Amino acid sequence: MIPIIDSKRQYATIKDKAESAVLEVMRSGKYILSENNKKFEEEISKYLNVSHAVCLNSGTDALHLALRALNIGKGDEVITVAFTFVATTESIEIVGATPVFVDIDEKTFNMDVNKIEEKITPKTKAILPVHLYGQPCDMDKIMQIAKKHNLYVIEDCCQAIGAEYKGQKVGTFGDIGCYSFYPTKNLGTMGDGGLAITNNEELKNRIIALRNHGGAIRYHHDEIGVNSRLDEIQAAILRVKLPYIDEWNKQRRAHAALYNELFKDCDLVETPTELDDTYCVYHQYTIKVQNRDEVHKLLQEKGIGAMIYYPIPLHLQKVHAHLGLKEGYLPVTEKNTKLVLSLPMFAEITEEEQKTVAKTVIECVKQTMALGV
Ligand SMILES: *Cc1c(COP(=O)(O)O)cnc(C)c1O
Repeated sequence: MIPIIDSKRQYATIKDKAESAVLEVMRSGKYILSENNKKFEEEISKYLNVSHAVCLNSGTDALHLALRALNIGKGDEVITVAFTFVATTESIEIVGATPVFVDIDEKTFNMDVNKIEEKITPKTKAILPVHLYGQPCDMDKIMQIAKKHNLYVIEDCCQAIGAEYKGQKVGTFGDIGCYSFYPTKNLGTMGDGGLAITNNEELKNRIIALRNHGGAIRYHHDEIGVNSRLDEIQAAILRVKLPYIDEWNKQRRAHAALYNELFKDCDLVETPTELDDTYCVYHQYTIKVQNRDEVHKLLQEKGIGAMIYYPIPLHLQKVHAHLGLKEGYLPVTEKNTKLVLSLPMFAEITEEEQKTVAKTVIECVKQTMALGV
């Protein structure tokens, strides 16, 4: 069995440090918004080269509090993609705004920047690009459109910590960058966690207030907020892991290069494209194959933990049915939803395992062809 990700293997590499960091928190008696939160915010700001970072309880909260901080709500439209995890658009609906979907680019799976402007209306307040699978969006173009039309930009970096566009970390281009530390993300904690980053002090203060019941001063509440604090144990674990993120991302890139090599002579497998001027961190290594569902099933039978991210595009999900969008609305998104297959990818995967994965994928693709399914 080769899993899509093996969190236990990573744990083994940081075990002693993580366990003593957690013990220290437990013994300190300080469990909420204390030293580890403060230090982690400082350390990750430095890593991302941004002025402010605010620890939160999840990536979903980072997104929805970012929208709140920018006063986006009822009657407003936010331009985003349907080829992403539901949290992206759920956040838009949570604040009462309407997601407006742009199709994706065939090669990068990211927002097709040439189709953004046609979706802008007088109600549009923001663009919310998603750096999917760890691949940076075309931020020059997105920022240029945002400036021209006076729109905010919120970056969903939940799959892309450490990814760079023209040498600059994603999340630092727009007004607010949002990160998730869900255990399977490139930088994952051992529970839930999230982060919002910004270079704007006012926005930082607003998010700090929103995460703790809408008030900067304890028991003084200026607006309706939420409880989205990151607990000290999670912050302590993240502080142990942060120093490794560059090395882990480097290993993922090396694994992606090896997969590319292993599939080089097989026309039946389309490997991911990495654009010039970007540093992709391969949260997923996602191929495209015909007969995807059959290939997926065969791989599972053979113990290869391939996964489909994501099987149903968001504009066709029940949760967004009220938008009245039908099949055919986003042709590239819909087509790719039927082709994508993400393969086992994590820093600790071995060359032997990758060879087994690639060999089995090629076998399974050929088998489905022969069956004529
Ligand atoms: C994981 C993820 C989120 C949500 O993060 P959580 O921490 O699970 O709330 C949002 N957007 C994308 C693209 C994600 O992959």
